[in-house]
Amino acid sequence: WDNVLEGREKRHYSPKSVFAAGTAKRIANMLKSKASVEEEEDALQPRFSRGTGKMQLPDRPLAATEWRKLKTSHANPQRFDIQMLSALFASKAELDIAKSLLTFVAKETGTLSYELLLRYLTLCVSGGHDDEVFDVYDIMCGSFTSLETGASSLFIKSFSRTARWREALSILQDIKKVLTPSPRNYGDVIAAAVDHDDRDTAWALYNELIGKGLSPHQKTWEVLFQGGRRPQKTKAEGRSAEAEQDSLLEILLYLRNNQIYPQHSLANCIKTWFESLPGQKWEGNWTSANPKGVCRCCGSQLESIQLTDEEYQELKDKVMADIIQGPDVFNKTTPEELERFKMFVKRKPTFDVVVDGLNVANINMDKSRQSDTLLAVLSELECQGLVVLVLGRKHMLYPSRSWNRMNMNLVQQKAHCFFTDNISEDDPFLLYAALHSGNHCRFVSQDLMRDHKACLLNGAAQRLFFKWQRGHQLVVDGYVPAGRKVRFQSIPSFDTIVQTSGNSWHIPYDDTEDRSTYEVPQRWLCLTRKQ
Ligand SMILES: [Zn+2]
Repeated sequence: WDNVLEGREKRHYSPKSVFAAGTAKRIANMLKSKASVEEEEDALQPRFSRGTGKMQLPDRPLAATEWRKLKTSHANPQRFDIQMLSALFASKAELDIAKSLLTFVAKETGTLSYELLLRYLTLCVSGGHDDEVFDVYDIMCGSFTSLETGASSLFIKSFSRTARWREALSILQDIKKVLTPSPRNYGDVIAAAVDHDDRDTAWALYNELIGKGLSPHQKTWEVLFQGGRRPQKTKAEGRSAEAEQDSLLEILLYLRNNQIYPQHSLANCIKTWFESLPGQKWEGNWTSANPKGVCRCCGSQLESIQLTDEEYQELKDKVMADIIQGPDVFNKTTPEELERFKMFVKRKPTFDVVVDGLNVANINMDKSRQSDTLLAVLSELECQGLVVLVLGRKHMLYPSRSWNRMNMNLVQQKAHCFFTDNISEDDPFLLYAALHSGNHCRFVSQDLMRDHKACLLNGAAQRLFFKWQRGHQLVVDGYVPAGRKVRFQSIPSFDTIVQTSGNSWHIPYDDTEDRSTYEVPQRWLCLTRKQ
């Protein structure tokens, strides 16, 4: 029923902004040709790893003589056991068949290779055969001086879901002697510790994970919030309820600072945890925000998208240092051209809007009307009384079918223009001019600059960059038919980020798997405390 409801809601819901979750995916899907639909259908056909496709699989455990017969008939007897185990794994065969193969190999050769044991282990762990995993563990520890991380991770996963979970903890310690365990390794043991009511161990591991700069899996947070709901068995030994509560609220601040959005299942765990806090009367609701950034559930105002003066300065400094002055910039332009541009900007008044001319002109699929489109956009900005800079390429000034001379003359009357060499990329110029003009300056581009620009910045600056982009980028809405007025998508007034006012929490969450990294969720969890 929930799915039916959600499906219905989605169909009626058409987000206005390019930053709305799923938009990029939807557009990409729309652009997909029929050929790729056929490709997708092909992908659904069962696939086998190379060399195992034609293997005949036994349907019961075999005796040694039977295995020997199969092996000698195989094209590549040297790899027979490995390929057979892979095929058994792929076909989800009974574990007993694999076991009988191992017995045969041990008898025949007197030993079992690491590779074979690892494949068998994978089979056991994925099938939930934890008792057999213990056996493999004893064999491997007896035969090999050390285990590589593939085997260690499998043992951690398996031991963590049994009463022998503390051994997973010591395998984790062993990994640490050589390298940094994965967030999955930590997550498995944390889940085990929570399950066995050892919260001190769970939180110690969690803090270690964060301390190493690793990013926890959402499942790990789910486990911690679920654990937080259960009363501790022994009060004297366990952590205090206050400490537990503080640690969980700390997770929410981590989500905020790292601009992470919980998936629906984690949001649900957070909601249930808040509502379970004794004597605090929290109430959670699934909701959305209106265009002005007011929560449709409790009516409170969400945080503004505008950067504070400090944030703006920080972003500007980072972009100037890393993108404009960084070595990377000269892959896109020359030092002389950048210098010429800086002088140009210095002589001009501050701009209200910077237009990526070529990008805007390309909105029109009809290449013969590129300059019409650019002119239409500029006319709209002129109506709004804005000081505009157009960035363009020199080739736009040579009259052609696309670039009408009269249109380009009008463009130069309506706006300040800077034309770069035909090989230059406009992004560094656009960022420089916009940031140089100040926090009020917006820019027009359909390009989201997500690939090359943001990756040059570190984590914190990257988040500021995306926030600035969401708050400053004007995107032309749809195509521009001849003679029609240009419309821009509305810039959101509020920031989509985990936030609190003490007596309330607002948590944006993912209800789609199609969200691209620069898009933001459209759904919120509203938590309020009844007075
Ligand atoms: Zn609310």
